[in-house]
Amino acid sequence: MEKCSIVVPCYNEEEAIPLFYEATEKATKDMPVEIEYVFVNDGSRDNTLEVMRNLSESDSKVHYVSFSRNFGKEAAMFAGMKETTGDYVVIMDVDLQDPPELLPEMYKAVTEEGYDCVATRRVDRKGEPPIRSAFANMFYFIMRIIAKVDMVPGARDFRFMKRVMVDAILDMGEYNRFSKGIFGWVGFETKWVPFENRKRVAGKTKWSFFKLFQYSIEGIVAFSTAPLVWSSIIGLFFFVASFVAVIFLFVRALIYGDPVDGWPSLACMITFFAGLQLFCTGIIGMYMSKAYLEVKGRPIYIVKEKK
Ligand code: UDP
Ligand code: MG
Repeated sequence: MEKCSIVVPCYNEEEAIPLFYEATEKATKDMPVEIEYVFVNDGSRDNTLEVMRNLSESDSKVHYVSFSRNFGKEAAMFAGMKETTGDYVVIMDVDLQDPPELLPEMYKAVTEEGYDCVATRRVDRKGEPPIRSAFANMFYFIMRIIAKVDMVPGARDFRFMKRVMVDAILDMGEYNRFSKGIFGWVGFETKWVPFENRKRVAGKTKWSFFKLFQYSIEGIVAFSTAPLVWSSIIGLFFFVASFVAVIFLFVRALIYGDPVDGWPSLACMITFFAGLQLFCTGIIGMYMSKAYLEVKGRPIYIVKEKK
């Protein structure tokens, strides 16, 4: 029988894990496929690891990987995928915001309808602060314009994939990982399944507004070099403009003499250009820092214990 591996990143999720396990067991029991769980403990500070250990004692389908510290969800997904042995791999959040009831339908789409992958997206953002939704929409808008990968608004990391696709993703060993971009970049035939947003079953969200903002910058830097081009274009534009201005001032001084006024406007110009220069240097710095981390070739995660 074919096997389907379920990868579940967990960070401080002691309450959610049993609920997740129960719901997923129920949803998958009629699927004609063997199930395997790979839980990833991403440096939790509560009893998450203990819960995983107990679960894998009582059920041999359950495996786990435990990190030496918190490496982030991206690292956890990567590590989990690496441990899987199934013909199919699913990535799911443990908080049941990714409904397990969709699994049979996703399985069917891959095995019978000829897709390589089934991805999910939320059709609404109910229960989310409006300002967060607004920024999220803005991010997708910018991404669609500047990055050359297919990114769907509201896309979740919840995916059902064939082995070939998982191997392609694992081949992308970059340190700065942005899965929403990576999934699109590797290609393959993808079916999109929409569903309505749900509330977390237990515990709290691990994403603050600031963390999400950082993550979106990561996404832009990882999948587009457009900001680098922009900063060069802006620089070129102001270079030409200032050249014209210098000629104008020179000619005017020759004809009318040199009246010494206009200091406030000069001060404004100086601060404006200084700001612009810093902004563009900052963009370059961002790409350099990412390249720097990439060149170091550090591991994406460190395993302390696994089973
Ligand atoms: N997660 C993780 N490492 C982290 C943060 C989150 O493994 O550093 C896991 C978390 O346990 C959950 C999933 O990633 O299974 C999604 O996190 P969360 O539900 O907090 O995000 P949200 O749904 O609010 O965007
Ligand atoms: Mg969640």
